[in-house]
Amino acid sequence: MVKEDERLNVLEELHQRILVCTKCPLANERTNAVPGEGNPKAKVMFIGEAPGSEEDLQGRPFVGPAGRFLNELLVLAGLKREEVFITNIVKCRPPNNRTPSNEEIMACRPYLEAQIAIIRPKIVCLLGAAALKAVLPELKMTISQVHGQAYTKSGIVFVPLFHPAAALHQPKWKDILRQDMLKLKGLLAQVLSG
Ligand code: SF4
Repeated sequence: MVKEDERLNVLEELHQRILVCTKCPLANERTNAVPGEGNPKAKVMFIGEAPGSEEDLQGRPFVGPAGRFLNELLVLAGLKREEVFITNIVKCRPPNNRTPSNEEIMACRPYLEAQIAIIRPKIVCLLGAAALKAVLPELKMTISQVHGQAYTKSGIVFVPLFHPAAALHQPKWKDILRQDMLKLKGLLAQVLSG
């Protein structure tokens, strides 16, 4: 297990490897790999699908319209962006924002697993169907069936949520996401005090 005071360095070293990774074909299409960012000791982590065009250009996660909506949602849960950690299941942008393939997800998976092992979050929010399927494949349920519910696995509480980008096009999902973030606030109080 990584010691408390080494977390930042170990995470930084991992992110340097991601920036030059060529393990899958997405390396050929990207402008920048987007390892993720936030507090290396975050209690809450958010995992999305993949970087979009703004993220690819800036090398930072959730900085486009979906990111601005995520910032709003964080406030509803009583969270500050700098206290959480935000990343994606694949670290490079798929062409035309297509869903990453299983092969790409598998190639990138060790980086996500390493981030979770280093940061040791108590709660992990899975943003969208691709993150749900990649991290909790055993559930075999759709995001519509499980959003806002808590699932404990390996000592971590996972909460599937609609992806903020998808919700931007579906006003109904925007409201559901807002309600789920209010529920998350209650769950945070429960889990973090325990
Ligand atoms: S998506 Fe992941 S595995 Fe593929 S090149 Fe980027 S960092 Fe490497």
